[in-house]
Amino acid sequence: MLSPSVEGQEREKGSGVYMRRVSYFTLGCRLNASESEGVMRDLVALGYRVVPFGKACEIVFLQTCTVTAQADASCRNVIRRAKRDHPEALLVVSGCFAEVQRDEIRASLEIDLLIRAEEKEKSARLIDKLYRERGTVSFEGEKTQSIGEAATSKFRTRAFVKIHDGCNYFCAYCIVPHARGRVRSTEIAEVIVSVRRELAAGVKEVVLTGVNIGEYRSGDGGRLRLSDVVREVLTLKHEGLRRLRLSSIEPNTVSDALLEVLKGEETFLPHFHLPLQSASDHVLSLMGRRYRFQDYERVVAKILNFFPDAGIGCDLIAGFPGEEEEHFEEAIKRVSELPIHFFHLFPFSPRPGTKAFEMIDQRYKHVHKRIADERVKRLSVLAEEKLLKFAEKMQGRVVPVLFEGKGNRGYTPNYLEVECDADADIDVVNANEILDVRLREFDLERRVFRADRIDPGICH
Ligand code: SF4
Repeated sequence: MLSPSVEGQEREKGSGVYMRRVSYFTLGCRLNASESEGVMRDLVALGYRVVPFGKACEIVFLQTCTVTAQADASCRNVIRRAKRDHPEALLVVSGCFAEVQRDEIRASLEIDLLIRAEEKEKSARLIDKLYRERGTVSFEGEKTQSIGEAATSKFRTRAFVKIHDGCNYFCAYCIVPHARGRVRSTEIAEVIVSVRRELAAGVKEVVLTGVNIGEYRSGDGGRLRLSDVVREVLTLKHEGLRRLRLSSIEPNTVSDALLEVLKGEETFLPHFHLPLQSASDHVLSLMGRRYRFQDYERVVAKILNFFPDAGIGCDLIAGFPGEEEEHFEEAIKRVSELPIHFFHLFPFSPRPGTKAFEMIDQRYKHVHKRIADERVKRLSVLAEEKLLKFAEKMQGRVVPVLFEGKGNRGYTPNYLEVECDADADIDVVNANEILDVRLREFDLERRVFRADRIDPGICH
């Protein structure tokens, strides 16, 4: 049994009170990042202090991901490393890998607390309880369907506000519905509270995030949709909201009502991530996706009609079982003609527990990993060309950038990463400032636009 000692803890200056330190590490998606930060915020409220990952601490919190076999391997490594580097600390794991691979974790990895998906909202209380008792708490907490207060961040320039969790789609390749359970939406009033808290903390950009945000339903009988949340959140521009983004949204859920709400709103940043997964209708059908390629094309055309400079991104999986050569050739041709700009490419990774995992052994031809990798390589060449074309279109434009991190990097509204020279005429560009820059030249290798700050006093 671990017993974190008072020795080594930090004493609050002059107060005689010992601060309990927690460090955290997040693997995976933005939703995970949002959830980790929500847990940290709750722990801070309970008197804990967050320290950088790797520093001495009493508690290590790991938010895990199981989207691919590679993600699983990374989680195992991070858990082992955390145990090795902090043998005295309480080791807490949460997230999709922890949920789906819980038996393996309990059997072979040394952890002190595994937080189940249903218990996520009370993570901080469970951790605190464990810490106080210096022992273990039940692995199985009571079940709840609430997703609690929308989790947000004061640890980033951009705040991710969770509005939705879970998924009922059960796409054939995807483990997420198994890891995160059925859909739950955060009530609009709670979302507004979360966004207001971020604004009060000085945050200028908010990203509404969730597993499948287009399936947002709240209010009586679920009549309130994503367009309703967005409309309400946009009213907060009068309270300091400067930029609003949407996280990934399923193409079949991009409604006219949503686009109408977003249209003409300067606060909305025109970047859409629409997971495509395959441009072959045959493969989309095998994947159990809820649209066909033409539907996707129509959504993209509609978005570009509303927002001509929108940055559009997609996910593509190569080598899904049953993706024959002819399907891939058809898909790559179609993608080459699509006006989209950002690509996340993955070779198919079979996840035990999904339909696709079973398909491999059935009548669907397994695509050899070498072939899947080759297909990813061909798609990468196309992805570079598309990105470059988009960059060419934007080159020379003056755009507002919210500077992050050390203060000379940030993103354009349509999600191109920008970097100003550190030794530019203005030597330090402040983090969390929104400043106009002229996009000078695109560095394809680093995927960054080099840019010059525009002095507001100069007419260009
Ligand atoms: S929509 Fe499909 S891919 Fe996305 S989380 Fe749900 S099941 Fe997974």
